[in-house]
Amino acid sequence: MGSMESIMSTSQQSLPELSFEFFPPQGDDGVERLLNGAVAKLSAFHPSYCSVTYGAGGSTRSGTQALVERLLEAGINAVPHLSVGGSSDAELDQLTDHYQHIGVRQILCLRGDQLSGSGQRPVYAKGLVERLRSRYQDHFELSVAAYPEIHPDAASADADIEHFVAKVNAGASSAITQYFYNCDAYAFFLDRCAAAGLSVPVTVGIMPIANIESLQRFSAKVGADIPRWLEKAMLGHAEDAKSLTAFGIDVVTKLCEKLLQMGVPGLHFYTLNRWGATRQICRNLGYREI
Ligand code: FAD
Repeated sequence: MGSMESIMSTSQQSLPELSFEFFPPQGDDGVERLLNGAVAKLSAFHPSYCSVTYGAGGSTRSGTQALVERLLEAGINAVPHLSVGGSSDAELDQLTDHYQHIGVRQILCLRGDQLSGSGQRPVYAKGLVERLRSRYQDHFELSVAAYPEIHPDAASADADIEHFVAKVNAGASSAITQYFYNCDAYAFFLDRCAAAGLSVPVTVGIMPIANIESLQRFSAKVGADIPRWLEKAMLGHAEDAKSLTAFGIDVVTKLCEKLLQMGVPGLHFYTLNRWGATRQICRNLGYREI
């Protein structure tokens, strides 16, 4: 290996792991477009894995499974999201048996969003972690979700961290956060984990900025804070999609740089099946396509 290549490879090695999240598109054409587009572009960064979301109440069960299969066939480490709400135990077992059979090694265990008016009894991600640990022992690495800005349903910040600790102790070995634009929230969350004696790696979820209205709507729904300065500044670019994209790439690159300085174990990009902004941010941070 030439000296330039070895310097690049050494500097890239010191960067934390990358992962990319996709949702199952509608129809065969949508899957092909995703694989030839965002997946092809971003897998060039050699992420640790690509994860596939699972629609609320199991609404994308077959789509999630199909995309996971296609990613594995393409030689990409695919990590399915799995949510406990809305599926029977038998359906969950059938799906996870299949995942074991096709070589899935890691699952992101979630409660999922409760379907309103469903009358469901409360379920929690911890139950899913326990179920998978007991059925498959150590076959799967289990990850869970973390909320540095506190999950919106939590009775209190303390209750939220207690429940997080309980679900990790049930058998998870890593976590991925909800996105945030304020690093103090993450530092506070890690402090509270440390105080509770928890030391699992907490990868940070990163949401690139693409569309102001959908970001506002989604953030309000999931309890993610858009700081006032950021919202005002984004609105200043509302009439010009190109300048909003450039501004968003700049802001999110700086956020990631701060997180790298804090020593995060990984960056997990919510790609929304797009690649332009995510690719540019990764390049800005020094990740290289190979
Ligand atoms: P839990 O950990 O079960 O917690 C849910 C709430 O219940 C929290 O407020 C917690 O404090 C509280 N709680 C936990 N245990 C108890 C208890 N014993 N008693 C009382 N309260 C309790 N959703 C999807 O539908 N599909 C996806 O693919 C998906 N992917 C995601 C990926 C990431 C990285 C993240 C961060 C979220 C994702 N979500 C997804 C959203 C997630 O399903 C929702 O945020 C959901 O509302 C909570 O899921 P959870 O697994 O964090 O729940």
